[in-house]
Amino acid sequence: MILLMGAAGAGKSMQGHQLADEYGYAYISTGEIFRVLITGKRRNEMLEGKLLSDDEVIRVVDRVLEIIDTKEQFILDGFPRTKPQIDWLLEQVESGRFTRPVVVNLEVTEETLRERLQKRARIDDTDEAIARRFNDYQAVTKPIIAYMEEKGIRVVSVDAGGSPAEVHESIAKSLGIEN
Ligand code: AMP
Repeated sequence: MILLMGAAGAGKSMQGHQLADEYGYAYISTGEIFRVLITGKRRNEMLEGKLLSDDEVIRVVDRVLEIIDTKEQFILDGFPRTKPQIDWLLEQVESGRFTRPVVVNLEVTEETLRERLQKRARIDDTDEAIARRFNDYQAVTKPIIAYMEEKGIRVVSVDAGGSPAEVHESIAKSLGIEN
């Protein structure tokens, strides 16, 4: 299990898709799933850049992971993002459902993130939603990287400020899977 971590705009989705296509891994992005599934008030909240509730996110991830072959390598993009989410995942690992994850932490400067998101122009890439997602990342998600390390999970940090091809190569190298 590879956990792709990094702020919005770090390139998780682009890198995740490329890894999946090149190595034949399943690729699961909670953001992509929710953009397809979520309706009503919670959809608006999502588009405002607010995190969805842990209960809901965990319920969906739990079900999605039932339908893929988790004996094979797979990538989770955008999960876990909070402490309850990583605690749930670690419980699953401990119970033997999945092998221990490796975290790929994509590091990019705030300036590069902003430039990329402005170019991407997804519907939730408004200035306000970008700011909210960045703040949540700093306050809620980034601290859990250290927490995962404390729990003995391997975290590889990759400079993700370069071109997609350069970042892909760095990820493959740090995972020891380069061709
Ligand atoms: P992303 O595509 O990863 O940027 O996610 C888009 C949006 O989906 C986020 O801004 C959240 O509203 C929601 N979302 C995705 N994954 C999670 C998660 N693990 N926990 C809470 N909300 C999430």
